[in-house]
Amino acid sequence: MRVELLKQILVTGGAGFLGSHLCDRLLASGADVVCVDNFFTGSKRNVAHLLSSPRFELIRHDVTFPLYVEVDRIFNLACPASPIHYQHDPVQTTKTSVHGAINMLGLAKRVGARIFQASTSEVYGDPEIHPQREDYWGKVNPIGTRSCYDEGKRCAETLFFDYQRQHSVDIKVARIFNTYGPRMHPNDGRVVSNFIVQALQNDDITIFGDGQQTRSFCYVDDLIDGMLLLMESPAEVTGPVNLGNPAEFTMLELAESVLRLTKSSSKLTFRPLPADDPRQRQPDITLAKEVLGWRPKVSLEDGLKKTIEYFRSLFEGNKR
Ligand code: NAD
Ligand code: UDP
Ligand code: UDP
Repeated sequence: MRVELLKQILVTGGAGFLGSHLCDRLLASGADVVCVDNFFTGSKRNVAHLLSSPRFELIRHDVTFPLYVEVDRIFNLACPASPIHYQHDPVQTTKTSVHGAINMLGLAKRVGARIFQASTSEVYGDPEIHPQREDYWGKVNPIGTRSCYDEGKRCAETLFFDYQRQHSVDIKVARIFNTYGPRMHPNDGRVVSNFIVQALQNDDITIFGDGQQTRSFCYVDDLIDGMLLLMESPAEVTGPVNLGNPAEFTMLELAESVLRLTKSSSKLTFRPLPADDPRQRQPDITLAKEVLGWRPKVSLEDGLKKTIEYFRSLFEGNKR
């Protein structure tokens, strides 16, 4: 898929999993890309193949500090996304979401740039309605161990809509559901990377709780299509728009698929369920279908095969 884009594009968190795929696609479309990252969870390795491009610039910078650049578009992705990483320094996580949003919105306001926020399905918390539509306000614990992420992202959404109402900033807010694919961090504790890494090493597969909780997994290429379409949608389409794959699986089903595709001899082992772990999560993507004409195309089976291939080559590269 090809979406026409303006020339100067800032991607915060651009050396991370989603950010690096986004930088790939933006450069391929002919844009100039400024990638900003403090390398907390991202890595130069994710964008090393882009460094030789004269249209790509990499800046080490923390978005909680002001940033002065001249751009037409801002994709604000900077924020650790997995519980292990966002709970490592929860105060910094909230600062990244909130101060980061303020700085990037201030930048957008000054230069008249359109700005995209990578929000999350976590704004719905442990949802009481299923699947989740954008008009559902969520059920979030404000003082728990996931709150730094969930409430930080909720406050960022508030800031986006207030900058729009108060300062006419041109905003786009996507609520991203669980996404997986190559360049996921191997040790970030997310379920897809955990299961694949465990299966490839024939270690036990760690199922948290009874494994009956559900998630819906979107392959990264599909998600990037949705992000680009939202960014270039008409100005009145502000979101929030859910982006995710509605196909829903239990963690036991996911484990079985990974074991089958890796031909692993790993066994299942059961561990306690983490605090505030949502029982089920599935996006309602009616709005994205209507306003963006977007729907995911890659099946879990095909996406897992590509992700397994990535981790296999990563481990073989590390052995060499
Ligand atoms: P990631 O951890 O791979 O990427 C986040 C990037 O932000 C990293 O490169 C990290 O170094 C950088 N970063 C963190 N704090 C920063 C700071 N203060 N200043 C500058 N850079 C900083 O995670 P990801 O999965 O690529 O997620 C990208 C965005 O998408 C995040 O905002 C996340 O909340 C959101 N999101 C992701 C998912 C998913 O399933 N992957 C789901 C919902 C939302
Ligand atoms: N900001 C920035 N880059 C810019 C413009 C602003 O990082 O190009 C930051 C600025 O430091 C400020 C924040 O964005 O803290 C919010 O800017 P805004 O203009 O909304 O607020 P003010 O400067 O009035 O506090
Ligand atoms: N999970 C699991 N084993 C693992 C890692 C995670 O069973 O090794 C479960 C986790 O408890 C949750 C689901 O998988 O119910 C998705 O977890 P992840 O951290 O990937 O995403 P999130 O909870 O943020 O949706």
